[in-house]
Amino acid sequence: MSLFSVVSDPGAFMELYQPLKVDGVELVVLMSVVLGYLGILALLGAVLPGQTIAGTLLADKTRVYYKCNGLASLVVMLAGLGIAIKFDYISPTIIADRGGKMCTATFVLCLMMSVWLTLRGYFTKENSESLKSHATGNIIEDWWLGVQLNPNFLGLDLKFFWIRAGMMGWLLIDFSVAAKQYIEQGSLSPSMALFQLFCTLYIFDYFWHEEYMTSTWDIIAENFGFMLIFGDLVFIPFTFSIQAWWLLSHSVDITPTAAAMNVLVFLIGFAVFRSANTQKHKFKQDPKVKIWGKPAKAIGGRLLVSGCWGISRHCNYLGDILVAFSFSLPCGISSPVPYFYPTYLFILLLWRERRDEARCSTKYKELWKEYCKAVPWRIFPYIY
Ligand code: NDP
Repeated sequence: MSLFSVVSDPGAFMELYQPLKVDGVELVVLMSVVLGYLGILALLGAVLPGQTIAGTLLADKTRVYYKCNGLASLVVMLAGLGIAIKFDYISPTIIADRGGKMCTATFVLCLMMSVWLTLRGYFTKENSESLKSHATGNIIEDWWLGVQLNPNFLGLDLKFFWIRAGMMGWLLIDFSVAAKQYIEQGSLSPSMALFQLFCTLYIFDYFWHEEYMTSTWDIIAENFGFMLIFGDLVFIPFTFSIQAWWLLSHSVDITPTAAAMNVLVFLIGFAVFRSANTQKHKFKQDPKVKIWGKPAKAIGGRLLVSGCWGISRHCNYLGDILVAFSFSLPCGISSPVPYFYPTYLFILLLWRERRDEARCSTKYKELWKEYCKAVPWRIFPYIY
């Protein structure tokens, strides 16, 4: 179905909407399933051991503390699901069979959650930086961007938890779609295998380094509103897995050379992404840390100019864009649909870089100007 037919013919649009359509009872059942998933994840997070990491120092000199046991939670969750599948308690294609409906149910849940959190933020009597109201008075803006920085529920930091749930949800959807292909077609196609391999490595790596999340822009600077609630739990899992859905109904002839090139793009992107984020995180913990074998160089002792951070001011974005691109390459170039994720990420990170630049310029003032002179490239060295 072309974009033109969807725009010009409302009937065609309704056809596109069909997989998302869900009736009342089904909606309640599916929302309960999603709530069950969130409940189990919260329980695992509470009982499993994990390092407690102090978050960034907030404006009122307080910090939020994060228990980083996402990897343990993921492993236990996957083991539990494996056992449940083995004994036929659940089907491995439970998500893949009703992906659109599941997406609608998660969306409705996120909508309700965002309204509840906006109201809770409006009426809060808390005055710490993380819990006080940051309301602007514009209801739409407050709902979209959130009112509180780090709202919690029963001691659980909702923002940190929500990203965990979304990243794990992405992996569960991928696995379920792979299981559907395996059951229906008797094997995994090479393209599906490559996509699954890259995503699995990326997501496990994310949880291996979960503590690094505690210093990212979303965690330190964004309030928790619909944008993040929806972005983390609906957008990430349901759209980042588009390639897998697409590969279910399209076969791609991938040559060994193309597959090798694809692996290379992934490895280069991953190395840049991981090194940049690790270097910054280690530098924040110890400004004298060694980077590429030499003591870290920093402007004013605060802005790292060694390693990746001396190549471009957001080398981590460059790595992430390459990785995203490598997720889509197994689908070939016959359709733009599987390229949704890298295209979206490219636009998002370009916009995010501008916002982060403005924030850093206000925070670091002259030091930031000096950093921009020392490292003129924003993301892509010699290009941008
Ligand atoms: P960063 O992790 O790059 O954090 C930016 C912050 O780092 C700045 O605000 C500043 O904060 C600090 N900083 C910037 N430059 C320097 C420097 N030279 N030396 C020391 N500190 C510096 O940004 P994000 O949180 O946006 O991204 C984190 C990762 O998440 C990235 O790899 C990104 O690609 C990925 N990401 C992925 C998304 C996806 O959908 N797949 C979406 C968004 C991000 P401070 O005040 O602490 O100094």
